[in-house]
Amino acid sequence: MELVEAGILNENDIEEATAVSFNPNRCGFENKGEIWVEDILNLGISPVKLIEIVKKRFLALDGVIFEGCSVSGISIYDDAAVLQLAEGNILSSRLIIDAMGNFSPVVKQIRGGRKPDGVCLVVGSCAHGFKDNSTSDVIYSSSSVKKVGSAEVQYFWEAFPAGSGPLDRTTYMFTYVNPQPDSPKLEELLEDYWDLMPKYQGVSIDNLEILRVIYGIFPTYCESPLPAAFNRVLQFGDASGIQSPVSFGGFGSLTRHLGRLSNGIYEAINGDFLDSYSLSLLNPYMPNLSASWLFQRAMSAKKQTNVSPEFINELLDINFKSMQRLGDPVLRPFLQDVIQFGPLAKTLGLVMLTKPQILPSIFKQVDIPVLFDWSGHFFMLGYYTFLSSFMDPVIRSWLNAFPSKMKYEWKRRLEAWKYGSGLDYRL
Ligand SMILES: Cc1cc2nc3c(=O)[nH]c(=O)nc-3n(C[C@H](O)[C@H](O)[C@H](O)COP(=O)(O)OP(=O)(O)OC[C@H]3O[C@@H](n4cnc5c(N)ncnc54)[C@H](O)[C@@H]3O)c2cc1C
Repeated sequence: MELVEAGILNENDIEEATAVSFNPNRCGFENKGEIWVEDILNLGISPVKLIEIVKKRFLALDGVIFEGCSVSGISIYDDAAVLQLAEGNILSSRLIIDAMGNFSPVVKQIRGGRKPDGVCLVVGSCAHGFKDNSTSDVIYSSSSVKKVGSAEVQYFWEAFPAGSGPLDRTTYMFTYVNPQPDSPKLEELLEDYWDLMPKYQGVSIDNLEILRVIYGIFPTYCESPLPAAFNRVLQFGDASGIQSPVSFGGFGSLTRHLGRLSNGIYEAINGDFLDSYSLSLLNPYMPNLSASWLFQRAMSAKKQTNVSPEFINELLDINFKSMQRLGDPVLRPFLQDVIQFGPLAKTLGLVMLTKPQILPSIFKQVDIPVLFDWSGHFFMLGYYTFLSSFMDPVIRSWLNAFPSKMKYEWKRRLEAWKYGSGLDYRL
């Protein structure tokens, strides 16, 4: 609906681009029971149709598309940014939106080639021949920590009916790693995937026709979202690092922030607030995003921790069961990548009350400095919740009296409080 509200699509377009929808959706952890939810990650979208629809709309509004061209350089001047294409053309603009994804060359330059703080490795396939194909897995774990080469990994699964046919199903296997030279390779994961997937899905590989193989690497950085480093260039989508480090649901996060960003970008262009400081206010610190880092750490297997190989599954199971007990206002925002102060505090409280013996293993699994850092973000999450709930209405009533630059800056701060505390979420 965010795409409709932003005026990019209408409801008919969404219906046309939706290839398949499915319910219910499962979260389950090795032999520990499962919880089932409705309408979470329950739509399959046809990217071909979606891109065709938005392309037509963009062209009808006099937009110009340079398909198959790649950016080789950007030069910034006082009054313009000039984009060089590898094919020889140059394009001049007042503002460049860098939506070149996780491997954007501009982001590489800003991050100075720094190693990611965490990586999610994904392998999977879409195959034909699944008779039992009406539900999905949002997250499922069918095993405890295991060795791959000299590394330890905890595998998780996702599975969805695919839009190409009633017997077609996509299954992914993913794991979080702290990138090291001995981290597992995608080929090794793919070998395990072919061994483990049939058992996980209750099928024989001989009865499946493999339609395509999928693999990917999602680098994540603690320092996210990425502030603008240059005048006239703003990172957007995966390039900005605004996606959850846990779910790699960058499309969902992109749509969640679309209204905020499109209004902000419009105001930045109109007011000529295109210096790096003003643009950075569009990608501000968000304590809820920083706080979710702990979950990635807690879900990454570590060497030499003295915690049991079942610990990650136990921890996830108790957390998900606690969230389920606390009800939809706690469970649903979490499953949709929105971390809020109240629900997080309640869940942690309930986990500590129902299973206090798990605490020493949490300290061993995530390390004291990480927990210390997280406590700061948790405090800021509470502070942003307070600011957005009580200070926002006061400041908002003064906004129109502010000079235009000050008004632009305060609007961005109010948005940072709201989105950074997850109060933009609607149940
Ligand atoms: C297997 C898999 C499953 C996923 N599942 C989900 C999901 O269920 N839900 C969800 O929300 N998200 C999901 N995602 C993530 C989602 O696909 C991304 O977050 C989203 O596509 C990010 O969009 P983007 O426009 O920021 O970047 P991208 O989609 O990565 O687009 C970047 C574009 O920039 C282009 N580019 C790069 N360098 C240059 C250059 N030098 N010059 C010109 N162009 C360049 C690339 O070719 C690409 O077209 C999934 C991703 C994968 C791989």
